[in-house]
Amino acid sequence: MSNRRTFAIISHPDAGKTTLTEKLLLQGGAIHQAGQVKARGEARRARSDWMKIEQQRGISVTSSVMTFEKEFAEIGGGETITFNLLDTPGHEDFSEDTYRTLTAVDSAIMVIDAAKGIEPQTRKLFEVCRLRSVPIITFVNKVDREGRDPFETLDEVADMLALDVSPQMWPIGMGGLFEGLLDFRTGEVARPEGGSKEYLGKRDGDAEIPEDYEEEYQLAQAGYPEFNLEAYRNGDLTPVYFGSALKNFGVEELIDAIARHAPPPRPQPAGEERITPDHDEVTGFIFKVQANMDPNHRDRIAFMRQVSGTFKRGMKLTPSGLGKPIAVHSPILFFAQDREIADTAEPGDIIGIPNHGTLRVGDTLSEKDKIRFTGLPNFAPEILRRVQLKDPTKTKQLRKALDDLSEEGVIQVFYPEIGGSSIVGVVGQLQLDVLISRLSAEYKVEANLEASPFATARWLKGSDEALREFERFNQGNLAKDRDGDMVFMAKSAWDVGYQEEKNPDLKFSATKER
Ligand code: GDP
Repeated sequence: MSNRRTFAIISHPDAGKTTLTEKLLLQGGAIHQAGQVKARGEARRARSDWMKIEQQRGISVTSSVMTFEKEFAEIGGGETITFNLLDTPGHEDFSEDTYRTLTAVDSAIMVIDAAKGIEPQTRKLFEVCRLRSVPIITFVNKVDREGRDPFETLDEVADMLALDVSPQMWPIGMGGLFEGLLDFRTGEVARPEGGSKEYLGKRDGDAEIPEDYEEEYQLAQAGYPEFNLEAYRNGDLTPVYFGSALKNFGVEELIDAIARHAPPPRPQPAGEERITPDHDEVTGFIFKVQANMDPNHRDRIAFMRQVSGTFKRGMKLTPSGLGKPIAVHSPILFFAQDREIADTAEPGDIIGIPNHGTLRVGDTLSEKDKIRFTGLPNFAPEILRRVQLKDPTKTKQLRKALDDLSEEGVIQVFYPEIGGSSIVGVVGQLQLDVLISRLSAEYKVEANLEASPFATARWLKGSDEALREFERFNQGNLAKDRDGDMVFMAKSAWDVGYQEEKNPDLKFSATKER
C-alpha cells in the first residue's frame, strides 16, 4: 500500500486551521513549505500587486503544498508515512481555487471550533467534499476554552451534514475545567502538562477520571456508531477527535488517525476508465495554476496532482490539448528536502511545473497522451460583473488578460452573444479585487467592474438542434465561455428553474467538467 496521504483542511475562518497546520508540521518532520520555494532572488523583490492584497488583508489568496513525514512503529511493521497537506485559503471569500484544490486530495480534516460548531464556510466546503465522496476526519478544536457540550457538537455535525459521527476521543471537561482527553482506542487518558502530555494511565486501570464524567463516556461510547473504516472511506461516517491546536493537544492522535485510516492515493476517473496508482505510465492532472510573483515574467507554476507511475525528472509528458510533449526538467517537488529540484515523485504527490502558459487547470498530463481525466469541474459563478474599460482602445489587451486569468482559474470569463463588454464570474468577492489589481499591474489595463443583469450562469448541453432552438429565443441570455461552449446567463435562480422546465431536452449544468 502507498505510504502517501494527500489531504486538505477545511474550516471556517478562525477555527484554527493555521494553528493546526503549524502543529502538524512540527509533529511530523516538515520537509518543505511551498511558500519558501516561490520567493527566490529576483522574484522575492518584485512582488505583484495581488500579493500585496494578501499582505494588506493578512490572508492567503494562493494555496500551497506542505509535505511532512512521520514514522509509525505500529503501522505495517514500522512505516514512514508521507503527508501532503494542500492548503486551502482560509478567508471567507473563497474562490474556485479552493474548490479545485479539493479535487486533488484523497481526504480532508474538518476543523470545528468547539464553541461555534458548524459554520457557513465549513458547510460549503463540506458539500464540495461530499460531491466527490472525500472521506472526512473531524477535529473539534479549542477544548481548552469554554465550549459547547460535546454531545451538542456531535449531534450538530450529524444533523447538519447528514453524516454518521463516531467519537474517538472525549474531552474531560472544557475551558477552565479541562483536565485531559480520553482516547477511546487506547483507553488512555492524557492531559496537557506544560505542553507535553502525561499519561494518567488506563481508564480501567488506575486512571483518575473524575467520577462525574464516567457517565458521559458511557453515553458517548454507547450513543454513537462504532468506527467503521469502509463507512468512513465512503464518506458516510466521520470519526471525531477533540483537542487544542494552540496547546498542541490531540494533534498527535489526529496525525495517527490520518496515517491509520485516511485513504492512500485513490483511482481517478477518466471517462469510463479509472486510472489506479499502479497504472503503467505517469499520469496526473493540473488543479491549479499560479502566476509567478514577478510581473515582468509571465512564468507560471502549474500544480499537478500525480495519479500514477513513478515520475522522474526530465521526463516527457504530454498535456492534453497541446498535442506535443513537454520535458519536465525543473519540477518543484515539495517533498524535496533541501533540494528544490525533485528527482522522483509518486502517486499522491504534487509536482510544480514551471511553464509559460501552456498548462491549464483541468489538463491531463501523461506519457502516452491517451488518457483524459474527468470530473474536474468549473463551478457556476455566484457573482457576475461587466468589465468596463477606462480606455476603450485597450480591448485587445483586456481580452488577452481575461483569457490568461481565466486560464489560471482566477476568474471565469463569458462573452455575451449580444453586446460588447465581457462578463467575469467569480465565486467570491475577493477574486474581483485580485482581478482589478492584476489587470492594472500586469497588463496595464485599467477597468471598472459594473453590475451585470445576470445572477448566475449554467453550461448548456444538448443536441445541436435543441441548442439552436434555444438560441433562437434566448440570444440575449447567451454567452460563450473561453472554450467557446454555450452558457445560459440567468437573471435569477428562478430563471434557471423556469428554463429547465421549459426545455427538458437541455441540461443546465452548474459545473462544467473538462
Ligand atoms: P484560521 O483562520 O482557521 O487559520 O485560524 P487560526 O489558526 O489563525 O486561529 C484563529 C485564532 O484562534 C487565533 O487567535 C488562534 O491563536 C486561536 N486558536 C487556534 N487554535 C486554538 C485552540 O486550540 N485554543 C484556543 N484557545 N485558541 C486557539
